[in-house]
Amino acid sequence: MSKFFNKAYENLEPYVPGEQSNAQNLVKLNTNESPYPAFPMDADITLSVQALNRYPDPNAALLIKALAKQYSVEPENIVVGNGSDEILDFLFAAYCSKETGVLTPEISYGFYPVFASVHGVPYKTVELQEDFSIDIETFFNAKSTVCIANPNAPFGLALTRAQVEEIVKHNKTNVVIIDEAYVDFGAQSCVPLICEYENLCVCQTFSKSRNLAGARIGLALACADIIQDIQRLRNSKNPYNVNSLSLLLGAYALENQSYYDECCQKIMDARTYTTTKLQELGFYVLPSLANFLFCAHENIAGAELYEKLREQNILIRHFDVPKISNYNRITVGTKEQMDTLLQAIQKILKGQNNGKAN
Ligand SMILES: *Cc1c(COP(=O)(O)O)cnc(C)c1O
Repeated sequence: MSKFFNKAYENLEPYVPGEQSNAQNLVKLNTNESPYPAFPMDADITLSVQALNRYPDPNAALLIKALAKQYSVEPENIVVGNGSDEILDFLFAAYCSKETGVLTPEISYGFYPVFASVHGVPYKTVELQEDFSIDIETFFNAKSTVCIANPNAPFGLALTRAQVEEIVKHNKTNVVIIDEAYVDFGAQSCVPLICEYENLCVCQTFSKSRNLAGARIGLALACADIIQDIQRLRNSKNPYNVNSLSLLLGAYALENQSYYDECCQKIMDARTYTTTKLQELGFYVLPSLANFLFCAHENIAGAELYEKLREQNILIRHFDVPKISNYNRITVGTKEQMDTLLQAIQKILKGQNNGKAN
């Protein structure tokens, strides 16, 4: 740290992303990306890189129009960002003050506490139930900005739309942010509620269910007033936040929605398959509605399983966090990747048993 660094940020603990590697032979199940290509194999996309001499459209009109059609809302109900992480950053700036702070589940997306600390606002949490699910009443009358990932990470458990609506109804004096990064893998979206509630803001992303993590495209959907707030911040920080190539790629992706629906279906099928197989191997697996599984085994510690798989070039995610340190989060990849993982786990568990017998 240089001696010039702003004291306000001295104690910042940055978000730690999962390991990114281009190593060959790697089975990468650690950051919830899609294992499938970004576009259909026969996709015919022409991107003119020569046009990069111009700034992108600051209104993102083409992409927003396509999104409005897709979600059956008006363009005034949408704002796009450089990934939904940027959208969340705008939302914390817009709606979390020193007085209100932000209220989230005690264990959730690792970026929430980081944004709270960057913005210097109190980070408050509610306890999860024994099974890691959310008791909706703990979020009633929060008097803080509520932020919930639905499905929640790293568990994959989801609230129904009716449950979220109850939370929204019981928070008339503050905004409720619903982060739907994983909603397309089987959960209920709250987008149909945005025009009914002035305090609801839904975030989505192209990174998980649209195979475009590298393009960095996220969006918020809300009533026009909320979107205007976010636009005001966006135009004050970075009006060209989504680059020209990503604006085109995003609009193009929406023309190919059936491709992404098929990819999501394959992931959901692989999720069911892997859940059953892990259970057969003695794992406790949470019922996930996301593209990852959260699981633990009584014969092997979470950290040890993570390390042993890593030695075999299989990356999963382990969180050294109280209450969940014995668990691992496994991104659901292709069926072939899941078979490779399951075979490796089976061998590791066998070695474990042999060790005990000796
Ligand atoms: C992955 C993820 C995001 C961030 O997505 P980007 O659009 O890639 O920035 C936001 N929220 C949750 C809960 C996530 O898991």
